[in-house]
Amino acid sequence: MNPSSFSSLSLSPAMLSNLDALGYHEMTPIQAQSLPVILQLRDLIAQAKTGSGKTAAFGIGMLQKLNPTWFAIQALVICPTRELADQVSNELRRLARFTDNIKVLTLCGGAPMRPQIASLEHGAHIVVGTPGRLRDHISRNTINLSTVQTLVLDEADRMVDMGFYEEIAGIVSACPTRRQTLLFSATYPDDIRKASAEFLREPVEVKVEAQH
Ligand code: ADP
Ligand code: MG
Repeated sequence: MNPSSFSSLSLSPAMLSNLDALGYHEMTPIQAQSLPVILQLRDLIAQAKTGSGKTAAFGIGMLQKLNPTWFAIQALVICPTRELADQVSNELRRLARFTDNIKVLTLCGGAPMRPQIASLEHGAHIVVGTPGRLRDHISRNTINLSTVQTLVLDEADRMVDMGFYEEIAGIVSACPTRRQTLLFSATYPDDIRKASAEFLREPVEVKVEAQH
């Protein structure tokens, strides 16, 4: 069997046919390195450049773990900007398209608070958001993160560069300690080392070097 084929992993038949329909026939290098670790429910630090397919790496993992019949926030993705949060939400919806009904809710600043609160009252399986707005919902008690099983810090180096470290720490502490945490970053500076020591538990580190 082709080792970079998605069918070399233990994914559900629905997920495999969905990937096929999306035209994802082979794993990208970061997916091939990180998906086995993610599916073992280990914590992970993954370093790879933009456009390498990191969203599907964590998206496939979180969707395989998710219980569609439990309408609670089981996965939380923190992204640096509204544009990135929208992109991640869209990719997660595409990955979930032919599987069960999965509700993905995007929570970013710049959008009015009231409709977001109404959506949170209605419920979601996955929340994708930016640090500032997630902190707002936590401090207003309009979001319950006690059911989170998978926490993703996407583009962690950019979030730290933008000064979001303390916001992230606050959001992480609103999640259960027993969870899987996945950190994605294009670079691995000292702040990211500090974040991984603080937020992750015995993480596996994978890295895909830039192609020359
Ligand atoms: P990153 O987060 O690493 O910057 P993305 O997750 O945004 O990258 O993915 C970049 C592009 O690659 C997206 O358009 C996505 O649909 C596509 N993609 C992801 N995985 C695969 C795959 N296995 N095969 C083909 N295309 C893929
Ligand atoms: Mg990305």
